[in-house]
Amino acid sequence: MQEQEVTSTMGRNALHQDILKRWQKKQKLTLSEDLKDILTLRFDGEVKFNEPLSKHTYIKIGGPADAYLKPRTIEALKFALELAGEHNVPYTILGKGANTLVKDGGVRGFVICLYDALSDYEVLEQTDDHIDLRVSAGMPWKKVMQIARDLGAADFAPLNGIPGSVGGLVAMNAGTPVAEIKDFVRSAQFLTKEGEVLELGRERLKFEYRDLKMPRTQFVLSVVFRLTQIKTPEEVEQEMKPYQEKRVNTQPLEYPNLGSVFKNPQPTHEKEVVATAGQLIEEAGLKNVRVGGARISPKHGNFIINEDNAKAKDVLTLINLAKDKIKNTTGIVLETEIKVIGEDPES
Ligand SMILES: Cc1cc2nc3c(=O)[nH]c(=O)nc-3n(C[C@H](O)[C@H](O)[C@H](O)COP(=O)(O)OP(=O)(O)OC[C@H]3O[C@@H](n4cnc5c(N)ncnc54)[C@H](O)[C@@H]3O)c2cc1C
Repeated sequence: MQEQEVTSTMGRNALHQDILKRWQKKQKLTLSEDLKDILTLRFDGEVKFNEPLSKHTYIKIGGPADAYLKPRTIEALKFALELAGEHNVPYTILGKGANTLVKDGGVRGFVICLYDALSDYEVLEQTDDHIDLRVSAGMPWKKVMQIARDLGAADFAPLNGIPGSVGGLVAMNAGTPVAEIKDFVRSAQFLTKEGEVLELGRERLKFEYRDLKMPRTQFVLSVVFRLTQIKTPEEVEQEMKPYQEKRVNTQPLEYPNLGSVFKNPQPTHEKEVVATAGQLIEEAGLKNVRVGGARISPKHGNFIINEDNAKAKDVLTLINLAKDKIKNTTGIVLETEIKVIGEDPES
């Protein structure tokens, strides 16, 4: 009898310890009321607490951000970084969310989104054979395409139809087999987590296939592009068209999606011919496979679509299924192109 009581007391203690630990974890990671007040009263821009990130990602998936911030100015962005430093709060950078999967438990701390926030531009130089164009990081890529067209520069045509912000395209070195964003970058301006502004020339930018090597806490603030294919706006429009048409014909644009989920395996030497991630997925018989509300697109093997209120866990299950099957059948290890952020929900 006595022994039983001791055991149940220990059980209760363990339960209390567990509850206490979870509470402490929550206290540490969620924002204090003081910090929320400061943000509400003094942050120059949009502030939303407990904001579902499914509203801010292209695939319409993702749990809440403790605070979702859209700064109106660079000063406001610096202020957010200062607060994050002082209050020991983590922060995550988001553009349009076109290549980002947010887990169902959401993101702790600040999610700072520049998309359509810092979005101005300036023609720095225009001659008969080139145009230097500075664009802020939050500008939607679609608008940059229109500005370039109106200026009569055809350089960006192969990148027509890529959704995202300038900052996101540069951070991802977005592109196609025909061209990548790095081909046009002359310099880029960054904001460090200490609030320092750095301007780096292209020779100092470490672009790789679908990546720019830089600290993940650092913001791209603006980019200078050099455009050299000078034509008339009508000619540029004609050059842009087929690229968008190809997307409509080959990508499942009628559903929320993430773009290419996996990077294409790269050849180890010039003459090697390697299958694309989409081809590997198709050959593995995985097109059209559905988990929960997510499906591997029947139109394009490297796209996962949100067909019916999908959760991040559905998408991640499909990703792991494809990785495992392709590794087991071909030995190729697929690497994700998308960025996965946030945490799983507490069970
Ligand atoms: C239908 C569709 C088609 C696509 N086609 C292509 C394609 O042809 N080629 C291609 O390369 N991609 C493609 N993508 C993927 C996506 O469009 C690109 O990766 C784009 O660059 C993402 O920009 P974003 O602003 O949405 O970035 P997000 O998804 O918001 O962020 C991506 C990464 O960039 C970082 N980031 C964003 N902004 C900044 C900033 N200002 N400073 C520092 N880091 C930042 C984020 O922290 C994150 O790590 C496609 C996506 C979709 C949905």
